[in-house]
Amino acid sequence: MKAAVVHAPGAGFSIEDITVGEPQANEVLVKVKAVGLCLSDLTMASADLGFPMPAVFGHEVAGVVERVGPGVRSLHEGDHVVGALIRYCGDCPRCLSGRSYYCRNTQRTERPAGDPPRLSSDREPVNQAFGLGGFAEKALVHENQLARIPQDLPFEQAALLGCGVITGAGAVLNTAQVGRGESVVIVGTGGVGLNAISSSVLAGASEIVAIDVSDEKLAHARTFGATHTINGSEEDPVTALRQHLPEGADYVFDFVGSQQVAQQGLEMLSYGGGLYLVGIGGKDVPITLDAMTFMRNRNRIESVYMGSANLKVDVPFFAGLASRGLLHLNELVTETIGLDEINEGYQRVRDGKVARLVITMESAMSEPTPILTSPEESLAAHAEQ
Ligand SMILES: [Zn+2]
Ligand SMILES: [Zn+2]
Repeated sequence: MKAAVVHAPGAGFSIEDITVGEPQANEVLVKVKAVGLCLSDLTMASADLGFPMPAVFGHEVAGVVERVGPGVRSLHEGDHVVGALIRYCGDCPRCLSGRSYYCRNTQRTERPAGDPPRLSSDREPVNQAFGLGGFAEKALVHENQLARIPQDLPFEQAALLGCGVITGAGAVLNTAQVGRGESVVIVGTGGVGLNAISSSVLAGASEIVAIDVSDEKLAHARTFGATHTINGSEEDPVTALRQHLPEGADYVFDFVGSQQVAQQGLEMLSYGGGLYLVGIGGKDVPITLDAMTFMRNRNRIESVYMGSANLKVDVPFFAGLASRGLLHLNELVTETIGLDEINEGYQRVRDGKVARLVITMESAMSEPTPILTSPEESLAAHAEQ
């Protein structure tokens, strides 16, 4: 099968023929239909982070079950599925108490040592990043990392459910559990932050303030449900927020991950408000706390991992919302491209020229397809809702 293989950090993606194994116990062979270009994959593929190479990356996968291995009971041939990098065993106390995202037995989703590798090239093993390896025509995945989705959800939209959607929407609905009438600040309105905005609408938040440095992105954020926007490159975000909400915000979600944003986030909080750190901007982001003020104001800081999502519960839930048009997934996908355009696609994502690119396997070796929705169509779609 064709796959985009990375041979060394920064070497780029090379389209090659590699071998995918047969499903063993609890494994599922998925025919990949669409896979998103998430920046985390590029970071892992570019920086020397000790990731074993050669490797196939790609963790925003949607496809169709082609074959299941022995013992697989949750999925069947022909099911439409979404994969995610959350790995969990399914039977430890954390998993059984609904916190599979905190499972410490993640190795249980891997093949036992000594077994043949899932992917190989000339009999040499090829690493499968996050147990998924979606930048390929097929992905051989542990069943715990796959969730079934409705058959009517387009694959290029569904692919985003496994990462950007569960992270953004999960931060609001699962981790923070925003309630009706509360105020929310979303800092960073890219492909993840926009999901936090649409889910804040669903949670009943009365104020949804979007902060970014691009007027274009802020206009987009309004179409997703932001009630107020602040351009951080034109005015001080803390002052502007306090002018709009003098008592501060109940929740601040940081989708950027810089020290400056985290610090500003703390200064935007209301009495009892919480700062949620979602974005990863670098290795370590020091945050200075005035401990007395922090405690006096009853504030809290929490990190968010994959939207505190339980995959088999949350992906079908969010897929259902998406099918009903409540998450605006079609407006998140800027364009679809072929697998052979992955290097230039990532270049465009890195340059900030596109919000979200998705590889579709139907067009894997063909010309890029045009933008899925024009701005006019997006507005018309909103007007209908
Ligand atoms: Zn991702
Ligand atoms: Zn577990």
